Amino acid sequence: MNTFFIEFRDPLFGIIVFFVLVFIITFFSYWYNRFRTKEDYRHLDKFLRQFRSPPTQKELEILITSGELSQKSWLLLAQSYFKNGDYEKSIEIYNEILKVKDIYNYRDTMFLLGRTYFKAGFLQRAKQIFLEILKNNPRTPQALDYLLLVYEYMREYDLALEVLDSLSELNKERESDRAYLRSLSILNDTQTSNEEKITSLLEIYKQTHQLTYMVFEYLFRVNPKIAWENFDSSKSELLTDILWHVDKKDLNFDIISKNGYLRELYTARGDVELANKSSVFEFDVLINLKTKANATLSFEYICDSCKQIYPFAFNRCSHCHAIDSSKVEFSLSKNYYRDFSEENNSFQ
Ligand SMILES: [Zn+2]
Repeated sequence: MNTFFIEFRDPLFGIIVFFVLVFIITFFSYWYNRFRTKEDYRHLDKFLRQFRSPPTQKELEILITSGELSQKSWLLLAQSYFKNGDYEKSIEIYNEILKVKDIYNYRDTMFLLGRTYFKAGFLQRAKQIFLEILKNNPRTPQALDYLLLVYEYMREYDLALEVLDSLSELNKERESDRAYLRSLSILNDTQTSNEEKITSLLEIYKQTHQLTYMVFEYLFRVNPKIAWENFDSSKSELLTDILWHVDKKDLNFDIISKNGYLRELYTARGDVELANKSSVFEFDVLINLKTKANATLSFEYICDSCKQIYPFAFNRCSHCHAIDSSKVEFSLSKNYYRDFSEENNSFQ
């Protein structure tokens, strides 16, 4: 039995104790390090989680009123939210800044808040903000500019025209805005007949020589005959997409045969054979292919002022708010309509 026990004075006992101690220390050190690494990750996760979601309104209230960051820093933060399209957070920050009593740039912050409301589509709130700015500071053209846009988007054209009068008093005369608002007002008037609308629109067009696209888009849609009668061939390129979509039965071949661009356009479309080549690449390809290939033109619209590209035509650029700045660009594309009609015919 005694052979199984080692006496504590035995040198072997010391060696065993030494190895046991080494094992215990290594074991605890290993688990301690593992635990610390895990804790580190948890801490980092917790830290990073703060940046994944923006601060709540309550957090913002505490942070802004504590004054740890300057108002300029908060304005920069709100601006970066605005640029990223997070208008809700930007609005929350501006509203909290405005609650601070000793704010030194109250009017500027109000303007930024109004602009964000406008961009987010809260037109009624934007209107209230700009009206409040103008109540205390009537000579603020930037606020008047936005108030005009708000009224225009709300279809309150008479009020928008009044804002234009105020801008004129500040020597900021903008005839194109006046013509545009008057045209919008005519087009959206449910009491006026199409004939009356055409007469009024043509009157504005002849006076200003602006809004060509807006006027002729309506004329070709409602009364192509009058559209051709008032058509200015020098504007053909500007109206390429409208002309491309005019019904064959509504074409005026007298006018088409007298203008080089129109001859090439309608030869490319396959309605006439008045050109055998074109300096416009897309027309040239279509003229040479005749109707052998299943191709057509597709259009996109670029703002001449800010170079923003849109898939649809516009009269006022929603990015830079310029009027009459749309320029049509076209390219060759597959004719899905022809595909569809051929498919339908094959079932007959
Ligand atoms: Zn633009």
